[in-house]
Amino acid sequence: MSGIDSLPPLREVIETHGIAAKKALGQNFLLDLNLTARIARAAGDLKSCDILEIGPGPGGLTRGLLAEGARHVLAIEKDPRCLPALAQIAAAYPGRLTVIEGDALETDPLAHLTPPIRVSANLPYNIGTELLVRWLTPPDWPPFWQSLTLMFQREVADRIVAQPGGKTYGRLAILAQWRCDVRIVLDLPPQAFTPPPKVSSAVVHLTALPAPRWPANPTTLSRVAAAGFNQRRKMLRASLRGVASDIEGHLTAVGIPPTERAEQVGIEDFCALARSIDAAK
Ligand code: SAM
Repeated sequence: MSGIDSLPPLREVIETHGIAAKKALGQNFLLDLNLTARIARAAGDLKSCDILEIGPGPGGLTRGLLAEGARHVLAIEKDPRCLPALAQIAAAYPGRLTVIEGDALETDPLAHLTPPIRVSANLPYNIGTELLVRWLTPPDWPPFWQSLTLMFQREVADRIVAQPGGKTYGRLAILAQWRCDVRIVLDLPPQAFTPPPKVSSAVVHLTALPAPRWPANPTTLSRVAAAGFNQRRKMLRASLRGVASDIEGHLTAVGIPPTERAEQVGIEDFCALARSIDAAK
């Protein structure tokens, strides 16, 4: 027996290593290996790639990624209780799994990864959005990763793929769709997890475009979008007042009526606004 066949069932692993789920760490585990294999496959061709996985926990998705042929997986996990279970997986796939114990928000993974790189994770809900925004807003593009395949609460997934005009359209949709193709690839009910969370989840697949759809500085674009949607019911001339002097002038110059609300404005226009603001600095 080798690889995944030599490993005990995940329920047994959790019991043996005493990994009772902790809410503070966002621990809702996937124990169905058919499901983790599906999520792993949603990341695309793994064989020629290194995979960055955040929060492997007892290793359900990690097993899926390795069984589906990932060249190398780098997994960053904060909970030391999970390390023996992950060491067992590493032993079953010699040389293909590296585990770092640490906080993903404070760990630079790049020294341990060789391009091409894909990211695949069932993210802890409390840091998921922050990590996504960091991956979407590096100063230079393309980023270190080719694709992100990420599990979120369904509500966050909806915000990533949202179109202008809807209630879920906002900064996440703008930052994601400005530089990526995005789609929801899988819906999961609460019962798919142990313990079940209160809400449904979805896996979103983001593919990095070779270049952003329109030029803009990511910091300015993010700041403009954050301000515009922070008070989404207000007109832009009011919600963006603190972002630049003469905001009405910038809005008019790029053809956005100053009385418009942020949710009516497409990504191309947000980029034009960010460029106009930067050009006046
Ligand atoms: N991947 C596993 C699965 O699908 O069953 C576990 C997913 S669980 C939703 C999130 C995991 O992220 C947990 O194992 C938790 O300990 C870990 N985690 C929480 N905060 C973290 C952080 N700041 N850095 C790294 N891992 C973290």
